[in-house]
Amino acid sequence: MTKQKRFFLEEDELPRQWYNIQADMINKPMPPLNPATKEPLQPKDLYPIFAEELCNQELDQENAWIDIPDEVREMYKYYRSTPLVRAYGLEKALGTPAHIYFKNESVSPVGSHKLNSALAQAYYCKKQGITNVTTETGAGQWGAALSYAAKVFGLEAAVYQVKISYNQKPYRRMIMQTYGAQVTASPSMSTRAGKDILTKDPNNQGSLGTAISEAVELAINTPNCRYTLGSVLSHVTLHQTVIGLEAEKQMEKAGEYPDIVIGCFGGGSNFGGISFPFMRHNIKDGKKTRFIAAEPASCPKLTRGVFQYDFGDVAGYTPLLPMFTLGHNFMPANIHAGGLRYHGAGVIVSQLLKDGLMEAVDIKQLESFDAGMLFAQAEGIIPAPESCHAIAATIREANECKKTGEEKVILFNLSGHGLIDMTAYDQYMSGSLQNYEVTDEDVQKNIAELEKVIK
Ligand SMILES: *Cc1c(COP(=O)(O)O)cnc(C)c1O
Repeated sequence: MTKQKRFFLEEDELPRQWYNIQADMINKPMPPLNPATKEPLQPKDLYPIFAEELCNQELDQENAWIDIPDEVREMYKYYRSTPLVRAYGLEKALGTPAHIYFKNESVSPVGSHKLNSALAQAYYCKKQGITNVTTETGAGQWGAALSYAAKVFGLEAAVYQVKISYNQKPYRRMIMQTYGAQVTASPSMSTRAGKDILTKDPNNQGSLGTAISEAVELAINTPNCRYTLGSVLSHVTLHQTVIGLEAEKQMEKAGEYPDIVIGCFGGGSNFGGISFPFMRHNIKDGKKTRFIAAEPASCPKLTRGVFQYDFGDVAGYTPLLPMFTLGHNFMPANIHAGGLRYHGAGVIVSQLLKDGLMEAVDIKQLESFDAGMLFAQAEGIIPAPESCHAIAATIREANECKKTGEEKVILFNLSGHGLIDMTAYDQYMSGSLQNYEVTDEDVQKNIAELEKVIK
């Protein structure tokens, strides 16, 4: 038996504001562009799609601190502060002199960090008099968070779930329905986009792209309805900074400051959430913390993509975003970490990577599950397949400390638990899980296509 130590905050110590790193960045992110005019986007261009307050937050490069509305803060108290845990068990299993800490976002009612932004988005919609929200979901984590948040604030939620995961991952559908959401397998006959696809191909199994098109179409065509998104966008990452702001105070209680901060990387919201509050001390106070984003080797936008304007979706409906991307037509392999299968990175993180303020590593699927198994046995929590990437990157750094004898302080974000992903663990244990790697050819092909589209 190994002791474990957890750090919490009192209610009155919970953050009252989110941190907007855009205000402190020396090189600000380049502006998103209107795809038709190629002019920089204004907040009002986004008003038909998202709640107004969220559009303003999205493009805010001036205010470093944004008040967390009381109603959202009250809901955060249902599960926050989340524990900051000293992972003695993992340290011992690795035999490392490093001090490993993790922030446990899996304790939220829906099992992941996504609720931090879902509550904020639902609240701002409600405040504006919106009655209905839509979204798409692949693996179902975001859909579950939004469904619950909508219920909290008395909104109707319509979720388009990619048809193949609707059928293969029935538990997340049931979770969304339990919270009262209407879940539709996409493509569906309920939108023009869906009808078009199904008339051509009645057996179409859907993709995130088709689900986005349906959710956006419904939002635009329904009065008092708005669309919501669970990652990539700057306002989503803003809400997630509650993770790092809490962690900063909790690390203080532990009497330490991180040398390295690590998060898994899909679109960047949980990575930015834990990193940005610490990164502000690198920018403003000369701290030298390293920040590492851990992405899957099968979807390596940060380590092998290019920095340029690209669409956020496969259909090419969204604004053009300046980001590290593999091209919006890039089709990642069907790895279990569904939340990390996105072709691009958020604009803030992309700029930070370009400017050398952070690093990125890619992790193969088997290494991620090696790490998840070790963590489960050492700390008792079965991590989400996405979170396993952060653990794998942490283990690499801890093993490096073992070689050099350095007692570095490593903090990583445990973005969610894996209790609904046991099929993936089962495949790992039965030896049928495989690695997927992208060939240079594949990367080049999609990027070359991209250059044609954008010019
Ligand atoms: C969605 C998700 C991610 C990836 O999204 P980011 O925006 O990159 O954080 C990671 N972990 C879990 C558990 C998720 O549900």
